Amino acid sequence: MSVDILVLAPHPDDAELCCGGLLLKARDAGLSFAIVDCTRGEMGTRGSVARRAKEAAAADRILRTRERINLKLRDGHLRDDEPLRVALVRALRRFRPRLVLAPHWEDQHPDHAAVGGAAEPAAWLCGAPKFDPRTARGVASPDRPPYRPARILYYNNRYGIDADLVLDISAVFEEKMKLTLCYGTQFGPGKRDARGKGNAPLTRLSSAQFLDFLRAMHGHYGFKINAPYGEPYCVKGPVALDSVESLLGNKR
Ligand SMILES: [Zn+2]
Repeated sequence: MSVDILVLAPHPDDAELCCGGLLLKARDAGLSFAIVDCTRGEMGTRGSVARRAKEAAAADRILRTRERINLKLRDGHLRDDEPLRVALVRALRRFRPRLVLAPHWEDQHPDHAAVGGAAEPAAWLCGAPKFDPRTARGVASPDRPPYRPARILYYNNRYGIDADLVLDISAVFEEKMKLTLCYGTQFGPGKRDARGKGNAPLTRLSSAQFLDFLRAMHGHYGFKINAPYGEPYCVKGPVALDSVESLLGNKR
């Protein structure tokens, strides 16, 4: 299989929360994408692994995700190390995306920082056919030549990034909010736990303030590009421009 876009997500919900606007726009443009969740979110204060998987499936129905896999690595224990890099190389070789979306390499959550740090080395190593022979089979065959993704974009962290690119997601912003709310155990106040007993503990993400923050945060990035709502990304290295016209920007 090959897809246009692959999201590397430490936990189920990161793809939707950080890249939901881009994915919704990709869906509407007929582009294909897959999501790789590195863990099952078992360290989450609220919800359960089973509930989280159902929430991810509900989000995928909205997104029409081509495929979503879970690497089942240990939540809370990710490091930019050999096992994580090998797992990411395997995922990249499986989906062969042109564009990879990864967490920003600086993040308070160590799992996010780990995946953000491992993304670029993994993208390079997956183009080295002799790296990890168990996954190299087929990589150099005539129909699957050695491959590296064309670009990695790094998505937002909790405190906001100094964005290199801001995608105008105004047209899909309300749908992005719905997508985010598929994760009822994580976001929004007053959700009951999986057994239906009492209210799950309140966290920063599940406070009523968080949804207000999300709206304001996307408005903050949107303002920078003269749009109602924007989704921020960072990039390492220069972005190639094909034409002078592309520098003129869209008429607003
Ligand atoms: Zn996360």
